[in-house]
Amino acid sequence: MKIICIGRNYVAHIKELNNAIPTSPIFFLKPDTALLIRNRPFYYPAFSTDIHYEVELVLKICKTGKHIQKKFASDYFNEIGIGLDMTARDLQDTAKTKGLPWAVAKGFDQSAPVSKFLPKSQFSDLKNISFHLDLNGTTVQQGNSGLMMYDFDDIISNISTFMTLRTGDYIFTGTPAGVGPVTVGDKLEAWIEGEKMLSCSIK
Ligand code: MG
Repeated sequence: MKIICIGRNYVAHIKELNNAIPTSPIFFLKPDTALLIRNRPFYYPAFSTDIHYEVELVLKICKTGKHIQKKFASDYFNEIGIGLDMTARDLQDTAKTKGLPWAVAKGFDQSAPVSKFLPKSQFSDLKNISFHLDLNGTTVQQGNSGLMMYDFDDIISNISTFMTLRTGDYIFTGTPAGVGPVTVGDKLEAWIEGEKMLSCSIK
């Protein structure tokens, strides 16, 4: 499986990192070795001193497809979860400055903690899913799928223009404002609406 992550999908987050607003979705990949499941702890890697959290809604692909038209895109995912796009911001900043790929800054081991998934049918309106992230019990990020520049269907249609989507692939759909650093001893908890979905201790 592959993990596809959308960057710059919430205007407030684009502004906090002083990035330009994209004219089409931008995305990058994490390898399957980035996955961290079942609320296992995240071990702070030695190669970075500035690991950030980015909370994001995650789609689970349920059908193989390419060149998926937007009007059919919702047939290609059936579950929604939440994940953390853990980012070595120091390595990413260096990569951005030098025009180098983000593979290391975004794709290192354990850089994709992912929750359990909920059936899509549980949500009455996919354009109004609220979610938030607590850091040591204080809410640091709040988002709503209605604030995404590119919605779920846009994202699936766009990605599948370039890459075949396969059953079991995950799509991270972008982070709202409020990203920030973690330190050893922190606890991250991610929620979709009123339900706690993911807990991750930083060790
Ligand atoms: Mg992200």
